[in-house]
Amino acid sequence: MSSATPQHPVEDRYTRVRQLGWDVDLLKRSTILVVGAGALGNEIIKDLALAGIGRLIIVDLDTIETHNLTRSVLFRGSDVGRGKAQVAAEAAADIEPNIATNWFDTPLQTTLGLGVFRDADVVLGGVDNLQTRRDINRSCMQAGTPFIDGGLFYLDGDVRTFLPPFNVCFDCTLTGEERDEGWRRWSCLKLGSDDDAPVGPTAPTISAMIGGLQAQLAIKYLHLGREVPYPVTVPDGVRIRFNGFADEYERWNLSRDADCPTHMEMVPVREEHIVSLSSGNDMSAESLLAETQTHLGPEAYVELGFDVIHSLVCMECGGREPSMQRVGALQMSEAVCPQCTPSSCGGCGAPIGRIFESRPDLVFPDRVDCPDCFASNRLVIRDTETLNRIEPGSPALSHTLAELGVPLMDILEAKAYEAEHSLFFQLDGDRERVYPRRD
Ligand SMILES: [Zn+2]
Ligand SMILES: [Zn+2]
Ligand SMILES: [Zn+2]
Repeated sequence: MSSATPQHPVEDRYTRVRQLGWDVDLLKRSTILVVGAGALGNEIIKDLALAGIGRLIIVDLDTIETHNLTRSVLFRGSDVGRGKAQVAAEAAADIEPNIATNWFDTPLQTTLGLGVFRDADVVLGGVDNLQTRRDINRSCMQAGTPFIDGGLFYLDGDVRTFLPPFNVCFDCTLTGEERDEGWRRWSCLKLGSDDDAPVGPTAPTISAMIGGLQAQLAIKYLHLGREVPYPVTVPDGVRIRFNGFADEYERWNLSRDADCPTHMEMVPVREEHIVSLSSGNDMSAESLLAETQTHLGPEAYVELGFDVIHSLVCMECGGREPSMQRVGALQMSEAVCPQCTPSSCGGCGAPIGRIFESRPDLVFPDRVDCPDCFASNRLVIRDTETLNRIEPGSPALSHTLAELGVPLMDILEAKAYEAEHSLFFQLDGDRERVYPRRD
């Protein structure tokens, strides 16, 4: 027998959430993609789990190190060496038993495609890599999903909001130089490398504030236009900065850059132009091309939206080697010409591969110093030939989409010269790989 009366309804886990005016069922139905499970991601994930968000998708390719323990509420000493994404997902499930979590410890760009961005209600960024933020921004714009980005520096923190229809986007806020530098570093380094991370440490105090603000803005966004006992608004295209040195809070509007490359090139995906495929990214490029041809005719081709290196060519010896790797996935050890670069250090004979590993900060240099004997070793970095389409006769045809670097549940744009508009082919066959039950 229940003792509840109208004045004293039965209290449950979510009583206080309801009293806040939040819709528990709405939160339960919502999916939030969190990119980065570091200091900021920990706070974001903790707050979203406390609020009772139904599904969290967490991406982070790092493993937990001892020094993370002083700034990451979800990590314990016994987690050192384990993946951040998985440990954060488990901790979220500890906080909120009804949550569904999906975690990925591989680079965002080759892991989660546009279909996942469309499924997400909000995307929250807690990464320190400029190019990854640019990629999140682009996917959010194409998918029409809000992007709320966070950043930390010492005692300072920043939140930037970009909401559909994206009058201003993250890329608008960058200078041409920043874009080039972000791309140059990223495209030459292993995907998702942290090497353009800010040089300063971040404080767990400011990450709690900034991550908390990101989570709160996401929850407010979910409630826009709904019945809530107070006005709900989410500022769009703003930067909110907390200056932790002066203890001042600033907020200003971001402005559209007329030369923003993302605004110029990005094609939004329209629901009515999506063709759902029962295949996933393990299908061959040739089968995808055939599929697009049945819709768009023999002239059809597929835009990958990124470059794939199909050959490595040495300008010194003329050697050519076939390759098939997404730009950004090529490592320095693969880029050097094996004919023209000595395999060991000229000074001490250490394997040259070990020298590369010791210098992950170098961006395809022509010399590298040995960490042991300091001898300077000359390197010959090969040129790359790239493709960015799947079309008849392409060397990509015999490869699977995954081998080309196409992520799970991606949506690929197919065009034909005669066609009125593009069609977007969604890899729905990956659904169970993206949303497996992990409990
Ligand atoms: Zn823009
Ligand atoms: Zn060579
Ligand atoms: Zn040496």
